[in-house]
Amino acid sequence: MNPQSPAVETTAPVNDPAATATLLPILVAPHATLKLRCRPVGPADDAAVRDLVGRMFAAMYDAPGIGLAAPQVGIALRVAVIDLAPDDKRQPHVLVNPEIVVASKELATREEGCLSLPNMYADVIRPAQVKIRYLDLQGVRREMQGDGLLAACLQHEIDHLDGVLFIDHLSALKRNMILRKLAKDLKAKVR
Ligand code: ZN
Repeated sequence: MNPQSPAVETTAPVNDPAATATLLPILVAPHATLKLRCRPVGPADDAAVRDLVGRMFAAMYDAPGIGLAAPQVGIALRVAVIDLAPDDKRQPHVLVNPEIVVASKELATREEGCLSLPNMYADVIRPAQVKIRYLDLQGVRREMQGDGLLAACLQHEIDHLDGVLFIDHLSALKRNMILRKLAKDLKAKVR
């Protein structure tokens, strides 16, 4: 997720050794992988997930963004990384097999963006508070709850694991407008 508009410049140094490897490219909509329902991570995926999350953090910090889901880098696994800490203060969280266990009846509207929809922003209405359950990188079962930006970010990233983008919460008219604008931007960039 990338909720800031316009994009905020960051000069955060990337200290992760994985970052010295080639950055994973982030897929841009419409891409078939972004529409997939991702499969849960199992014990056999341990090594692959460890490698993947290091590279996902590197790609997310480089973008910069505050959340990134595995399908956005072409991997259809239920893994997402988030870091909502402001400035260069790092507070990374790895969410393996995350699921929403409680969502408030109260709704909140918040402007969202997405690294797979570069420079596109729209108001999205979602439950104002959520509680999620997930595994951390060590396989320990954890819970996280939040409101505001954290609630929106958690829902946005978990949506990605089910092939849902923030524009899927908008009217067809607004969604198509954003997709058309994005296609036009990308075409202009290629020229
Ligand atoms: Zn996103």
